[in-house]
Amino acid sequence: MTHMHDETISSPVIGIDLGTTNSVVAVCLDGRPRVLEEEGNALVPSVVGLAADGRLLVGEAARNQLAAFPDRTIASVKRRMGQAVKLSLAGTDYTPQEISAVILRSLKERAERALGCPVSRAVITVPAFFDEPQRQATLEAGRLAGLTVERIINEPTAASLVYHAGSTDRRHVIVYDLGGGTFDVSIVRIERGVVEVLSSKGDTSLGGDDFDELLARHVAARFQQEHDHDLMADAGTRWRLLTACERAKCALSTAASVQVVEEFIVMVRGRRVSLDVEVARHEYDELISGLVDRTIGCVDTAIRDSGLALSQIDELILVGGSTRTPLVQQRLRDELRREPRWSVDPDLAVALGAATQAASIAGQAVGPVLVDVATHTLGIAAVCGSPWSEQLSFVPILRRNSPLPARYEDLFSTHGDDQDLALIPVLQGESPRLEENREIGRLKLEGLNASADCDGKILVRFELSLDGTLQVMAVESRSGISQRLAIVGALSRMQEKDASAAAERLAALTGVAMLPADDAGGFEAGRHEPATASAGRPHEAVVRRARQALPGLGPEDTADVERLLRLIEEAAIAGDEPLLGGLVAELDDLLFYAAG
Ligand code: ADP
Ligand code: MG
Repeated sequence: MTHMHDETISSPVIGIDLGTTNSVVAVCLDGRPRVLEEEGNALVPSVVGLAADGRLLVGEAARNQLAAFPDRTIASVKRRMGQAVKLSLAGTDYTPQEISAVILRSLKERAERALGCPVSRAVITVPAFFDEPQRQATLEAGRLAGLTVERIINEPTAASLVYHAGSTDRRHVIVYDLGGGTFDVSIVRIERGVVEVLSSKGDTSLGGDDFDELLARHVAARFQQEHDHDLMADAGTRWRLLTACERAKCALSTAASVQVVEEFIVMVRGRRVSLDVEVARHEYDELISGLVDRTIGCVDTAIRDSGLALSQIDELILVGGSTRTPLVQQRLRDELRREPRWSVDPDLAVALGAATQAASIAGQAVGPVLVDVATHTLGIAAVCGSPWSEQLSFVPILRRNSPLPARYEDLFSTHGDDQDLALIPVLQGESPRLEENREIGRLKLEGLNASADCDGKILVRFELSLDGTLQVMAVESRSGISQRLAIVGALSRMQEKDASAAAERLAALTGVAMLPADDAGGFEAGRHEPATASAGRPHEAVVRRARQALPGLGPEDTADVERLLRLIEEAAIAGDEPLLGGLVAELDDLLFYAAG
């Protein structure tokens, strides 16, 4: 348990995202909103249950018994808010407000444990489409939980506050919110701290749960083919399948393919059988593309209803756990022709915004939320397009604004059966045009041409740490040949000279490039060759640039550059890679500012 009690907070006001699937509580400390976690968990599943011994369960514990004891467990109560219905829990009837109050009370208690003081005031968020009875029911739930509800605010409003608290210029923002069970999109205008929802459109029965369902059906069909048994027939088995599929789905947001595994899932003809099915990202994308298209239709309608032209929209903000899905981001990029902004974890943005609003009610000044994010897109050069119009392009792997640390991977295929060598240039930049990006390193896979009876697949993984060090790993599926590269200062800024040098190097490359994989044949992890480290190139390039720049520098810069060059030489001789990396990054920065 962490105590974050601050003497200056006399009566804290907390911000609560009371979600259909998950709820989150946050509070501002030292002028910054923070989510209150417990045991590393920020999200509290919005589920209430009664244990066999009559204990009240909230969150994870309640969610865990949902499948086994459906009549003693209530999920998705938010869908019922404002309705005159009774919800039965172990034979007793409750109103939706009462069940929501149980969740709110547990969030209040979580805040009290974290802050070490009583908490009685809150800002609670609701969807923009909630009508008056639904808002009233939410207010009542707050009162029942022992909270003074200072304000009910719209979820998209809260999310835009995270990014724009305190800024004065007028901005139009699209807030795209895809959660577990609902989808909504709002067009929001922010001006001098006032947020106005111009239009809102959504689908209250579309969300991540549907993605789980589609994946489960796909996996069940594969299982049926192999074992002639329907995993969806029995409720308990179906639940286990769905749970495994949700896990796999989340993994597919950063991995190129996953293994859906569940041990001893059923008895088939007297034998215990385990589930083990591989799903590649592109297969999953096909499954969900119809649903993603539906959300894009809503986005178009919301923009039309707002009376704004696409060109008047300044920004796209992603909210809700399901917006981590790469296909969702890709479709939005294509449709809106802009890079989504999600430097805050999308499932925490609403609570952080509510805490921002709460703090200003409590009279605290709040600054913008600062999170460490990738300041540039990082990717590789690969051949794109149809076989008759192939083009070497920049293929992003880790996008700008991704929260750090981050890890993403993608699959590519080798270019033709007889390819023996793959050169993989690692690039930084935002342009699809290769020559407008900066090459920051290069991997080389040699000796790939084993028994070439199928296309080779190359898995490329990027891991970016908080200090800006990029670990790149590439492994070829047939041979298991792999290489690893550490690039320090992968986010340092692009320079003119770099750009033209990169263009020259890349021009000579077309013959040995790779294609993004369109199908994912049996890639097997765990067959990797011992990795070879090589971090030479980018270091040498920076040192060379520094030597060239020296004659043109002023006395102060000259002294600094010379000092760094000396230290770099010593670090290189000592083989101290981390130190070397830090120094080179420093030199790179210095050169950038000295040149500008
Ligand atoms: P809500 O607002 O409906 O309460 P959330 O914003 O918490 O919901 O989103 C929950 C949904 O997000 C779930 O369907 C969950 O599976 C999905 N989700 C969470 N993390 C990821 C991820 N990494 N990739 C894809 N989907 C995810
Ligand atoms: Mg939500």
